[in-house]
Amino acid sequence: MKAQCLCGAVRFDGQLVDDAVLLCHCQQCQRWTGGGPLTTVRVKDVTIEGADNIGTYYASEHGERGFCKTCGTTLYWTMRGKPPAFLPVGLLEDQSGLTVKEEIFVDHRPGWLPVFEGARQSTEAEEMANLDEFLESMK
Ligand SMILES: [Zn+2]
Ligand SMILES: [Zn+2]
Repeated sequence: MKAQCLCGAVRFDGQLVDDAVLLCHCQQCQRWTGGGPLTTVRVKDVTIEGADNIGTYYASEHGERGFCKTCGTTLYWTMRGKPPAFLPVGLLEDQSGLTVKEEIFVDHRPGWLPVFEGARQSTEAEEMANLDEFLESMK
């Protein structure tokens, strides 16, 4: 997996965990991306070139959001202090072979945005009920 921001100051190298595209419809993600969900792939073994250009923002107790200080690109979502875990799919050099498998916080989906048929759907309440399990999986 290779990925970069709009201006190229930040570049990622690493592995895709699988072929799944994951959408988060929460309001923080809508504001952060500028509209629609945060649309990500899960990554591992990530190395970063240009890390000095990354700004971080903590919108919630657990999450860390990275952005490019030069061009403003949405770079990653991860647990505070952890390496990038989810990259926006648009940063990837190669988006082939990916499928939308999961949508979360679907109760916050705006009315103009259709459902991805076949993708697992979960609400904010369902996600919050599984928070401990998720946090454990991110360790
Ligand atoms: Zn940039
Ligand atoms: Zn979100």
